[in-house]
Amino acid sequence: AKRLGDGQTVEFSPVFEAVMRERLDLVARLQEAISRSEFELFFQPQFRATDRRPIGVEALIRWRHPERGLIPPAVFIAICEDSGLIVPLGRWVLREACRFQQRMAAAGWPQVSVAVNVSALQFQSGHLVEDVRLLVAEYGLPPGALELELTESIVMENSDAAITTLQRLRDLGIVLSIDDFGTGYSSMSYLRRLPVDKLKIDREFVNHVDQDEKNAAICESIIAMAHRFGMKVVAEGVETLEQLEWLRKHQCDALQGYVLARPMPFDDMLAALGPGK
Ligand code: C2E
Ligand code: CA
Ligand code: CA
Ligand code: CA
Repeated sequence: AKRLGDGQTVEFSPVFEAVMRERLDLVARLQEAISRSEFELFFQPQFRATDRRPIGVEALIRWRHPERGLIPPAVFIAICEDSGLIVPLGRWVLREACRFQQRMAAAGWPQVSVAVNVSALQFQSGHLVEDVRLLVAEYGLPPGALELELTESIVMENSDAAITTLQRLRDLGIVLSIDDFGTGYSSMSYLRRLPVDKLKIDREFVNHVDQDEKNAAICESIIAMAHRFGMKVVAEGVETLEQLEWLRKHQCDALQGYVLARPMPFDDMLAALGPGK
């Protein structure tokens, strides 16, 4: 039972209380994980569709739990968002990504960008532009080296403030892409106003693109529209050679997915790319 301010009590079901307690435990544990540096970044390459040259890598967070092993973001990102922990965690991801971009350049891949997923709360926190400005200076990142992946909801919600933020990030040489494109409620007229460089087609549509007429129509429309707007298109979740071939034939610019490379620790990813040119 919980005591309310006016002396009333409310009975919660035991199951509800157990769930809430578990959640609080997890928030506390995640806080601890941040201070103990238990998070790490995996990297999944993106390839140019025409010649399959690597052009970017997406940083994807993992929690290296001392007892439970590697935990995927699906288990903790939503809780980090609800509790606000995503702001410090997102800052850590950004810095780590810049550090690895510098290492990519040193390994002979200066033109390969590092893409970071940015959550809505982090975007709206008011620190993002200043954080990025400092990191670009500290790591000497050239224009195009750092990319931010934003979801449709972030950029569609808060129009004028969002556009100003996007413009400032772009002025710092940051490449902006809209993640999971097609799953939200993007309005065409709004998209027209957005200063973004890329659309990432969600894997929901990429999957079976070569077999399903409707998915094919969605992908063709996204690609045509993006190109008319001067944007590039990345397909995520490419799992078969047939999908890959379909996307290449239909002018998709870049490809990312298990058929080309899985997310990997940085050193494995570098080894998989081979010697840089
Ligand atoms: P996302 O941004 O849509 O990232 C793509 C997800 O699809 C990744 O899952 C990736 O491992 C997976 N994937 C890549 N290729 C394939 C494929 O061919 N087939 C299939 N079935 N899956 C593929 P992951 O790494 O588990 O990340 C899940 C989500 O967690 C991401 O979805 C992103 O929204 C979020 N996330 C990951 N890292 C971060 C981070 O640092 N910050 C924030 N805010 N969110 C993150
Ligand atoms: Ca992403
Ligand atoms: Ca996403
Ligand atoms: Ca996705």
